[in-house]
Amino acid sequence: MPYTRAIAHDAGWQWRIPLQSRVGNGIVYCSRYLDQDTAMERLLGNIEGEVLTKPNILRFGAGMRKKQWHRNCVAIGLSGGFMEPLESTSIHLIQRAVLRLIRMLPLGKTSERDVAEFNDQQITDMLQIRDFLILHYKATERTDSEFWRYCKSMPIPDTLEQKIELFREAGLVFRKNEELFVENSWVQVMMGQGIMPQTHHPIAEKLTNEELARFLATIRDTVAKTVKSLPEHAAYVSRYCGIARAAAA
Ligand SMILES: Cc1cc2nc3c(=O)[nH]c(=O)nc-3n(C[C@H](O)[C@H](O)[C@H](O)COP(=O)(O)OP(=O)(O)OC[C@H]3O[C@@H](n4cnc5c(N)ncnc54)[C@H](O)[C@@H]3O)c2cc1C
Repeated sequence: MPYTRAIAHDAGWQWRIPLQSRVGNGIVYCSRYLDQDTAMERLLGNIEGEVLTKPNILRFGAGMRKKQWHRNCVAIGLSGGFMEPLESTSIHLIQRAVLRLIRMLPLGKTSERDVAEFNDQQITDMLQIRDFLILHYKATERTDSEFWRYCKSMPIPDTLEQKIELFREAGLVFRKNEELFVENSWVQVMMGQGIMPQTHHPIAEKLTNEELARFLATIRDTVAKTVKSLPEHAAYVSRYCGIARAAAA
């Protein structure tokens, strides 16, 4: 299947990413709840087919620099911070920081205001991503391990608490300051993990069931027609970025 899987285990999660010539595998875990040898055993035990390379062990403490830009130094990428890879956000943050830096230099020289604005925007991005990541853990329904029991009861940032409770009360979700994760992403994770709104906005009652069914049918038809006109995934990959083609280039 040509999609990435993120599979929870009792002290974290494991990824499986099918590529053209191999499948990428990795395990993310909290060392307080799982030791390295057991993690390694688990990773290797879940690999389908031959193991091609020895696992590379990376340790990280999640966090960020409060001053991403300080005097004539700008920390971009790992030098600026790292959050766990469940939502694969690092390269996005790098790209955003580079574009932001270019936009912040209209005069060809730095001003304290540029620096302050850059730092504020960078930190906002990271805190929003942090909240979305924590949601995946906090909203767990698992109680079968010490790790998940901790996640279920751990304190969370006020900003995340506000997001969860706004949604739980009446299904409200807001996207602020060009946040990376849009409303749909938040709704999918919250509902997918069992956080359901207790009521809904009265405006939803204005649509009859028949009108709603017609509306949804139109969306289904449009999606089906669009999908029909697209090439198969394997054909698309081989045409635009097939490995033989990349090697020849
Ligand atoms: C298996 C894996 C999968 C990943 N998947 C994703 C993904 O799907 N999406 C995503 O967004 N991110 C992903 N990431 C994270 C992403 O790859 C990294 O966050 C990103 O590459 C960090 O970029 P960087 O330039 O900050 O650091 P690096 O890419 O680590 O670059 C640092 C460079 O500095 C060099 N260097 C180090 N010390 C010195 C020195 N003293 N002198 C000179 N050079 C030095 C290193 O050799 C290296 O080339 C993944 C990471 C891993 C390991």
